[in-house]
Amino acid sequence: MTSTIDPKTIGRPTRPRRHVRSLTGFLPEKDAAGKEKWPRGDEKEWRSALRGLDTDVGSITKSVVHHVQTSLARQPHNLDDLGAYQAAALSVRDNLILNWNETQLQYTRKAPKRAYYLSLEFLMGRTLDNALLNLGLKDEYKDGIKRLGFSIEDILEQERDAALGNGGLGRLAACYLDSSASQELPLWGYGLRYKYGIFQQLISPEGNQLEAPDPWLEHQNPWELPRLDVVYDVRFYGQAERLDGKGRAQWTGGQEVLAIAYDVMIPGYGTQTTNNLRLWESRPKRGFDLNSFNAGNYEGAVESSNSAEAITSVLYPNDHTTFGKELRLKQQYFWTAASLADILRRFKNLDKPITEFPEYAAIQLNDTHPTLAIPELMRVLIDEEELDWNTAWGIVTNTFFYTNHTVLPEALEKWPVPLIEHVLPRHMQIIYDIVSLRSFFLTRTLSDASSSRTSVERKFPHDRERLARMSLIEEGQPKQVRMAHLACIGSRKVNGVAELHSDLVRTTILKDFVEFEGISKFGNVTNGITPRRWLDQCNPELSALISKTLKLDKTVWLKDLTKLEGLLPFTEDKAFCKEWAAIKQRNKERLAHHVELTLGLKVNTNALFDVQIKRLHEYKRQTLNILGVIHRYLTLKNMTPAKRKKVVNRVVFFAGKAAPAYYIAKLTIRLIVNVARIINADPDTKDHLTLYFLPDYSVSLAEVLIPASNISQHISTAGTEASGTSNMKFCLNGGLLLGTVDGANIEIAEEVGESNVFFFGHLTPAVEDLRFQHLYHPVPLEQKCPALAHVLNQVSAGLFGDGHVYEPLLNTVRQGDYYLLSDDFDSYIAALGMVDEAYSDSEEWVKKSIRTTAKMGKFSSDRAINEYAESYWNIEKVPVTK
Ligand SMILES: *Cc1c(COP(=O)(O)O)cnc(C)c1O
Repeated sequence: MTSTIDPKTIGRPTRPRRHVRSLTGFLPEKDAAGKEKWPRGDEKEWRSALRGLDTDVGSITKSVVHHVQTSLARQPHNLDDLGAYQAAALSVRDNLILNWNETQLQYTRKAPKRAYYLSLEFLMGRTLDNALLNLGLKDEYKDGIKRLGFSIEDILEQERDAALGNGGLGRLAACYLDSSASQELPLWGYGLRYKYGIFQQLISPEGNQLEAPDPWLEHQNPWELPRLDVVYDVRFYGQAERLDGKGRAQWTGGQEVLAIAYDVMIPGYGTQTTNNLRLWESRPKRGFDLNSFNAGNYEGAVESSNSAEAITSVLYPNDHTTFGKELRLKQQYFWTAASLADILRRFKNLDKPITEFPEYAAIQLNDTHPTLAIPELMRVLIDEEELDWNTAWGIVTNTFFYTNHTVLPEALEKWPVPLIEHVLPRHMQIIYDIVSLRSFFLTRTLSDASSSRTSVERKFPHDRERLARMSLIEEGQPKQVRMAHLACIGSRKVNGVAELHSDLVRTTILKDFVEFEGISKFGNVTNGITPRRWLDQCNPELSALISKTLKLDKTVWLKDLTKLEGLLPFTEDKAFCKEWAAIKQRNKERLAHHVELTLGLKVNTNALFDVQIKRLHEYKRQTLNILGVIHRYLTLKNMTPAKRKKVVNRVVFFAGKAAPAYYIAKLTIRLIVNVARIINADPDTKDHLTLYFLPDYSVSLAEVLIPASNISQHISTAGTEASGTSNMKFCLNGGLLLGTVDGANIEIAEEVGESNVFFFGHLTPAVEDLRFQHLYHPVPLEQKCPALAHVLNQVSAGLFGDGHVYEPLLNTVRQGDYYLLSDDFDSYIAALGMVDEAYSDSEEWVKKSIRTTAKMGKFSSDRAINEYAESYWNIEKVPVTK
């Protein structure tokens, strides 16, 4: 597959592009007195034309109509909802661009230290509503759009989700961008502009998940600005030849592709700050391999262009699993190389010595996906900047910060040495240099780079096992590079994403590094969510009630979420409680309406709404939930009609995508769909229990589901869910939590009080021992958990269609039971019973709901981003004013 491009390639001259200045990032020139000079033309003429945009309703309709006529080249008589959406989006975008310009100019002027968030995923969802809210122009546009004969609700529905992510990790990145701009922090995101985002999920009549491509760019994307002047070369393959004894080398040949920037504007809430998300697209380097053409090998000559474009063509649909595809490695390098080149160019515009780089840039690695940035920065500093090894390593280890997102073994990234050697020969040399140099000494800060070197061997003499455990290279066939180890030693600080998870990072996967480098390098930043999208936008009625009750404008409490505590006294206010419950009810009806529109099914809104929506994964235990549903169904079937009437009626919602190659997860979906088919049609029980699998889970679907939930399930095996963020979204909207003692569930319970959550299941310290018991002292399921055994037998016997189909899934429970369903099933069923009991006392339930929302202040992503800014990146606010 290697397409080697002849260096004698001719065509358009290939100019060196690495350090081209882009046209952004320039400052106005100053005169002798230090005053900024007007660059050109008649200043008065310019200034009167440079006025900001008017935002009264009349000006807004003019601007929308202007875009209808010019940008879209349409007329009032041929304008549909999609056209109206596009024109409105372009009009809103004009406002964003002006703020963006002002923000970036301010950053250039002030030259503050900046932070960069490198994430392979940004799960942004829709933009128009969020932009209107953050700009404070929602009412004006609503009115203006209405005057033009459209409804804002219909127009908002026209937008496709930007779904450049799999799940929690990508959504976290999106929440952090929102918070960075809202907190006026100079932060840019860097990612890839995938042509196809996460696949669209379809469900076949048999209940199988089918995957269709997500051509989200089909209709133009008004939210991005192509930056054709921001272009970098990125090399793959070729040869790396060492030049001298100082570790320098020359990397030549191979394939070169171009990285082109697309900028996405990120508006802050109630600020003028508009940050940037820069997404890279790969393109072939123009120029022809004339030799190929002469040989009549047209296909060979255009092959390089195909493979260049392939790099950013598709988001890999894996969540919490890795698989060593060459193209994925190329994505990771392409993205980190382009991002680093861009960050370095910006730094170079400051004319500071390169050793000061860490004083101007902090780079956050969102999981190990961007870890190649560490050897890449070493390569640039050593081979291009000609620094010595220690100086370069000192710069690197003061620039990067690494967030770990999982301790699941199957999710820890490793890349085969031969693959890296082939695709990135120079980087493999550097990784080997880090290995050999670091096993003898370790430099921690720039200042002790040349003096005090501590060595693993000196600290733990003759501990060969420890050295092997800590090595960057795992022995085996083939040898593999452990990316988490590389990210750890190459970073200034490391963090997990909730207290329990950060503890597990320190005591399990990075224990040796804690013992070696000291505990202070290993911190915690509990995840957060943006209350703008996840309360104000998705639940406007609740937001309005909160503002009215607190007697605070929402611009105040949405930026200081601890203000929600002011709701606590109102649990005693009957009218308030009634209104709170009525809003939940209307949100349930809104969801039911959505289900009727999309699936044609009628939902009973007089039942408890029980929701589990997240990626399908064995560790998240959707299987436990569906087996619990079956248990409930069988129990109901055994009751007399009179007794059934006393049971709390329940509607269960599932949504979530499975990785296309994840067989067991897909089988779980199939079971859910077929259980729904049988149960929903059973006249004995259908008033008391129904369930729905809503296809194609997305941010927009989450925005409808979350405000409607009475209870949501976060039931991972203890110690496996690093944090979770949907748990926070539900609780912020007054939905109660049913969960295990895991991830951020624990901290949520600490805040809202254990009496307001429903916990069950074994605790983290017991898990290892239970797994050992399963392996070496297995107890028959009939004996250990008869209720669960009965449920499995009913599935096997064909109660939900051919039982055979489900055997592989059922066997994960019967044999080995790695995720401990048989250990937790009884306490799970008991917890569901407690939910029923609590829900029966509707007055008390509403109070629990209010108390939950009131105590969720901690989980704002504003708090989280400020922790990163202060304790990790050392960056400060840069206010932007007109
Ligand atoms: C919040 C969110 C997630 C994360 O959900 P968890 O339950 O925390 O895994 C995944 N997908 C979408 C669309 C989300 O909005």
